[in-house]
Amino acid sequence: MTGDDARWLDEAVRLATANVAEGGGPFGAVVVRDGATVGTGQNLVTRDLDPTAHAEVVAIREACRTIGDFSLAGCVLYASCEPCPLCLSASLWARLDRVVYAADRDDAARGGFDDSFFYQLLSRPRETWPMAVVNERVETASEPFDTWLATEDRTRY
Ligand SMILES: [Zn+2]
Repeated sequence: MTGDDARWLDEAVRLATANVAEGGGPFGAVVVRDGATVGTGQNLVTRDLDPTAHAEVVAIREACRTIGDFSLAGCVLYASCEPCPLCLSASLWARLDRVVYAADRDDAARGGFDDSFFYQLLSRPRETWPMAVVNERVETASEPFDTWLATEDRTRY
């Protein structure tokens, strides 16, 4: 671990702990580019009534607004805790260079959070999930992609 990594992880952890005092969940994140912060996030799930407002997602959204791009290639995400599957996927979509975290999914489980459970669930057949995920292939299912592919000036991502 570099000195810079430790410094940014400390900042993510500080944001996480501070968020608890503000009534939020114990998670914080920082997006860094060229040694400077471009986005920070705290867990806003309960405040915003938004189950997707995880610290990492909040930080990614802010970083994209700061940079003016939907790609965060060239950036690093520092998280106070191991990103859950949602946040790890968001990091992939954002094309981040690296993701660095401090606490892990077992720490989160101790705090009563489902990160570890969801990771286990994703590795199991969907038929065993508590939530049904159903594919009903209607006739128009491929139309959006046909339209997309027929659009010459589409913004690829
Ligand atoms: Zn998450």
